[in-house]
Amino acid sequence: MIVRYERNGKVKHGWLVEAAQKVRVIEGDVYKTDGQKPVMTGLELPLADVRLLAPCTPSKVVCIGVNYKDHAQEMGIELPKEPLMFLKPATTVIGPGEAIVHPSLTENLHYEGELAVVIKKPARRIKAEEAEEYILGYTCAIDVTARDLQQRDGQWTRAKGFDTFCPLGPAIAPKLDHRNLRIVTKVNGEVRQDSSTSQLVFDVPQLLEAITAVMTLLPGDVVLTGTPSGVGQVRVGDEISVTIEGIGTLTNRVVAEE
Ligand code: MG
Repeated sequence: MIVRYERNGKVKHGWLVEAAQKVRVIEGDVYKTDGQKPVMTGLELPLADVRLLAPCTPSKVVCIGVNYKDHAQEMGIELPKEPLMFLKPATTVIGPGEAIVHPSLTENLHYEGELAVVIKKPARRIKAEEAEEYILGYTCAIDVTARDLQQRDGQWTRAKGFDTFCPLGPAIAPKLDHRNLRIVTKVNGEVRQDSSTSQLVFDVPQLLEAITAVMTLLPGDVVLTGTPSGVGQVRVGDEISVTIEGIGTLTNRVVAEE
């Protein structure tokens, strides 16, 4: 699985060898498909010696609202007829283990565990059938949401857009069948969401067709595919973890605003 890490002030991509708890250093650009193709070096670092970062640095994070049948039910909302899109600014992105800052502006901070798609090459007006070739891989995400501001504002820019509101990671799994992956969100070790991507209203290829009919997705851009049922409040000190089959576990703690 692809990771991005920092060591001695330098940021690189690597290949996570989980069983050995090691990271193999990758030279070159993991988004290049020709020319300077990425090269896996023979160099291995102990996982403990590197700091994992968000696995990509998107220009934008495109999110889909109400895209799980079970979540639509719990919110008492009808299933959308077409994908409901919104954006999180790039400044929301943080890496595994980094702190989610609880804004003082909200009294109802929610977690939403989600499957995230990382884009490999520029995608504009693509068809669902060709979506796979534009995907670098999949990672875990938390669509942190100020639920009270979301309800108050009528649109979601403020509720979804605070700094630190988009934890991503820990790694990008390149070849994953996205159609039936178990997704589990825990708060302080207690299961809150337990579903499968088979519950998606619009699947990944359909989402990429719909999004790229509107805007060009660039290498490293991220699509958050929506959250299953079981969303709820978190408070300062709580630890949120999202585990997706075939990817791993993303863990972030909520801290108070300074
Ligand atoms: Mg969401």
